[in-house]
Amino acid sequence: MRESGRRRKEHVWDKGPLNGFLYCPDCGSKLYFSHPSRLKTSGTYLCGYYLHYKKCSTHYIRRDELEPVVLAQLRKDCAFAREHEDDFLKMVEKKTRQQGEDAFRQGEREYGEAKSRIEEIDQIINQLYEDKVSGGLSAERFSIMLTKYEEEQETLRGKCEKLQVQITAARTTSDNAKQFIRVVRKFTEMQELTPEIVATLIERVEIGQAQTIDGVKKQEIRIVYNFIGNIQE
Ligand SMILES: [Zn+2]
Repeated sequence: MRESGRRRKEHVWDKGPLNGFLYCPDCGSKLYFSHPSRLKTSGTYLCGYYLHYKKCSTHYIRRDELEPVVLAQLRKDCAFAREHEDDFLKMVEKKTRQQGEDAFRQGEREYGEAKSRIEEIDQIINQLYEDKVSGGLSAERFSIMLTKYEEEQETLRGKCEKLQVQITAARTTSDNAKQFIRVVRKFTEMQELTPEIVATLIERVEIGQAQTIDGVKKQEIRIVYNFIGNIQE
């Protein structure tokens, strides 16, 4: 905001509650609000990469067409979460398990391997001390090897910490789903999209490029929720 200088009288556009939450799934850019040429219409959103560099595709979507779709999906998912809690938990767990199972298993395997290598190095280091004491290893050689193994252990410990975080995240899926249900309970009446509803429930919404297939316009609108991610399909 400028304090000095010429002040231009500008219309303040309502960019809508979804502004800032919309993303292009093709290039990863945010979608930006583009104000309408006439005051009566509600404006549109466009892929930022297209808007600024004329790259990617438009990913054009009208605000007044997007909001009812998102609201309807939100109401459907939230009603399901509220009214069929057990089924909802099972569905989210199944969905997340499918997505993360491979990564989870690989994480656990890598963690196990790193842990046993750390123990192995402990034994090697013990042996180094014994060799040094018995005179089988020079002080210089001992010091070089000790440093080498200690560095390897350090790296492995860092790796284990990271893997631990990933594994824990995968295990807390069920807690996340329960957290989502708790949040959903706050919004029993969703008559319209408000900034509070959007910020509480939604992480982002991905807007595909509209396509006309056999004369029918199709555009993917994919909601990614806070806590549980995407549950469509
Ligand atoms: Zn894009």
